[in-house]
Amino acid sequence: MAAPWEDVLCDTAAIREAALVAVDAALLAGVLMRTEGRPNASDVVNYAPFTLLPSAVPRALFEQAYAVQQDFNLLVDAVSQNKEFLEHTLANTIKVDDFTAQLFRIHAQVLEEGLAQSVFLGINRSDYMFDYGVDGTPALKQIEINTIAASFAGLTSRTVAVHGQVLKVLGKSEEASRLLPNNPSKGLAAGIAKAWELYGSPSAVVMFLVEEVQRNIFDQRCVENELWNRNIRVIRKRFRDVFEKGSLDDARRLYMDGQEVAVVYYREGYVPQNYDQQNWEARLLLERSRAVKCPDIATQLAGTKKVQQELSRPGTLEKLLPGRAEAVARIRATFAGLYSLDMGEEGDKMAAAAIADPDRFVLKPQREGGGNNLYGEELRQVLEKIRDSPERTSYILMDKIKPQPVMNYLLRAHSPLQVSECISELGIFGVYVRRGKEMVMNEAAGHLLRTKAIEHADGGVAAGVAVLDTPYLV
Ligand code: ADP
Ligand code: MG
Repeated sequence: MAAPWEDVLCDTAAIREAALVAVDAALLAGVLMRTEGRPNASDVVNYAPFTLLPSAVPRALFEQAYAVQQDFNLLVDAVSQNKEFLEHTLANTIKVDDFTAQLFRIHAQVLEEGLAQSVFLGINRSDYMFDYGVDGTPALKQIEINTIAASFAGLTSRTVAVHGQVLKVLGKSEEASRLLPNNPSKGLAAGIAKAWELYGSPSAVVMFLVEEVQRNIFDQRCVENELWNRNIRVIRKRFRDVFEKGSLDDARRLYMDGQEVAVVYYREGYVPQNYDQQNWEARLLLERSRAVKCPDIATQLAGTKKVQQELSRPGTLEKLLPGRAEAVARIRATFAGLYSLDMGEEGDKMAAAAIADPDRFVLKPQREGGGNNLYGEELRQVLEKIRDSPERTSYILMDKIKPQPVMNYLLRAHSPLQVSECISELGIFGVYVRRGKEMVMNEAAGHLLRTKAIEHADGGVAAGVAVLDTPYLV
C-alpha cells in the first residue's frame, strides 16, 4: 500500500522546502483555523493542521465506502423515523446517561405534540478505518456515523490543491494529476438549498447554529458562501440567541428577531457541555418548530453509539430496510464487531472478555467529538470497576481496528517538522432530503481523510489530534 514518495521521505532538504511551500499554499487556499488564543477573531489566523503528503488509500475500499453511502443515508433516515426502535434501543442507555436521556425526552415530547416539520435534511459523515487485522488484506470497517455537526467538508475541499502543489514541488507531477477532485461543501450546500426550497418561503433564511467558541469557522464559511452564491441568506446564531430572540407563531413557524427561519443547520449541540438550562429550552423550541432541522433530534439519536451497536445485531438491518437485501449486505460488510454491555448474560460475557484481553477492544461512551474512548489498560481498569454496575450500560464495546501505519509529516503551527508513524480515517459525506415519505435527494457528497500519529504507549490508538489529508488511490 506504499505511496510512490517513499524515496523523498528522508530527503530532509526537499521535505523542508516542500513544507514551506505547503504552508503558504494552505494559507492561500483557505485551509484555515482561528487561533487557540483568540478563537472568536479572524484578524490573526493559522493554517489548519494537515499532512505534508497525501496518504495511500486502497482504491477498492475507497470505492466501497462511496458505494455504501446512499444505503447509510437510507438507514439513518429509517432509524430516525422508527419511534419504537429508538425507544427500545436506548431504553437502558437513558437510565444511566443523562445527556442521551435529555435528548430523548425532547424527542418524545415533540412526537407527542405532533411534528410540525415535514421536510427533512440529513447531512452525515460515515467514518472508516482500513483493518489489516485478519490476514493482511485491508478491509473497510466503519468507526461510526456522525449525524450531527459533521465537520471539515469545507476545509477538505481545499486540501487537494495544496497536496497537488506539494507533489509537484517534490517532482511528482504525474501523481499530482491523479489526486481526485473533492468538494463536499458544495454537496452540503446543495442539500441545505434543496431543503430551503422545499420549505417554500423565499424570504426565509438558513440559520447556522454555532458554538460560543468558533475556531473552525472557516470550514463553516465554505458551506455558508456556497449558499450566499445561490442567493440564500444565512445567519449565524448561538443557542443563547435563540433563547433570547427565537419564537414560534401559531403554525409553529420559527422566527429569529422577526425573520423566518427555513433551515436550522446545527454545528453545535452534540456534547453535554453545549447545554445549560436555557440552551435546552432553546433546543426544544427549535425542535418543536416547522423549520427543517439538520439534524432533527431523532436523527441525532440515530447517530448514537448505542444505536450503531444495536444495528449490528443479526436481523436488525433487514427489519429497518425491508426489501433492500443488497443495501443491507453492503452496510453489514462494513461493520466491525460491536457488543452490548447491557446487564445480563451477554453483557457479562463481553465485559469479562474485554477485561481478559483489553487490546482487542475499544470501550465507547455515548459521546461525540473525540477523546472519550478507552483503550488497553485504562479500558481494563474502568471496566473492572463498573462490571457489575448498571453504569456499564452507558458504554458499548467495539472490536479494535488494526490499520497499517505509514510515515508522513504532520504540519501544525508552532510544531517542529518531524516524520511520524501515522494512521488514517476516511469519511464519506452523505446528504439527503425527504419531503413527507418521498426521498427527493440521496447522495454521497465527497470525502475527508484525516490522519493522526499513532501512540505507542499502550499499543493502541490514543485519542490523538488528527490532521487533514488527501487520499492517493493505489
Ligand atoms: P467520536 O464520536 O468521539 O469521534 P469515534 O467512534 O469516532 O468517536 O472514535 C474516536 C476515534 O477513536 C476515532 O477517530 C478512531 O481514531 C478511534 N477509534 C474509534 N473506534 C475505533 C476502533 N474500533 N478501532 C480503532 N480505533 C478506533
Ligand atoms: Mg469520530
